[in-house]
Amino acid sequence: MIKVGFMGGTFDPIHYGHLLAAESAREACGLDEVWFIPAGHPPLKENGPLADGQTRLEMVYRAIDFQPHFRGMDVELEREGTSYTIDTVKSLMELYPDREFSIIIGSDRVNDLPQWHQINELAALVRFIGVRRAGEELKVDALPAFLQERLSIIEMPQIGISSTDIRNRRAQGRSIRFLVPEKVYSFIRRNGLYES
Ligand code: ATP
Ligand code: MG
Repeated sequence: MIKVGFMGGTFDPIHYGHLLAAESAREACGLDEVWFIPAGHPPLKENGPLADGQTRLEMVYRAIDFQPHFRGMDVELEREGTSYTIDTVKSLMELYPDREFSIIIGSDRVNDLPQWHQINELAALVRFIGVRRAGEELKVDALPAFLQERLSIIEMPQIGISSTDIRNRRAQGRSIRFLVPEKVYSFIRRNGLYES
C-alpha cells in the first residue's frame, strides 16, 4: 500500500507552517505522499474563506511547486455544501484502493477532534498524525481513549505562522514576505488578495 498523508485545511492562504508540518509528518511517519486538499465550505469555522476555492487551490499548487511527494487535490472544492472529512476520506478510499490514508492535523485540530462530523466512523477508517503547533496547547489527555489510540504525535520546528495573521497583515498593508513561498507571495500581491 502507498502511504498518503491527507492535509486538509482552508489554506487561505497556504503558508510555511502547512508545508513544514507536512514535511515533518512525511519524514516521521514514512509517508510516500502528502495530499493538500483545500476545503470548499469548512465546518467549525465561523467565517467562510476570503479567497474562493480555485484561488486557494492555485496557491497550493504554487506552494508545492515541483516537490515530488506533495500533491494538490480539488476533490472537496467540487462538492456542494459543508466539506466533511469523512465524506472525502470515503470517496478517496474508493477511488484509490491501493493507498492507505492518515490525516495530518495541527494541535488546534487535534483538540477539536471530538467535535468532527462522524468522528467514530472516521477514526475507524484512518489514523491521525498530530503535529505540535506553535502557540496551541496540545491536549491529548483530554481526548477519549478511542481517539488517543488512533493518534500519533510528531514534532516539527515551531513556526508561529497562521493564515489569519497573514490576512490581517495584508489588510493592514504590512509585509507577508517569507511567511509564504515566493511564488505564493507574488501571486497574492499580483492579484491584490486580502487587501482591505
Ligand atoms: P486560519 O488562521 O485561517 O485558521 P491556519 O493557519 O490555521 O488558518 P488552516 O488552513 O486552518 O490554517 O490549517 C490547516 C491545517 O494546518 C490544520 O490542521 C492546522 O492545525 C495546521 N497548521 C496551520 N498552521 C500551522 C503551523 N504554523 N504549524 C503547524 N500546523 C499548522
Ligand atoms: Mg486554522
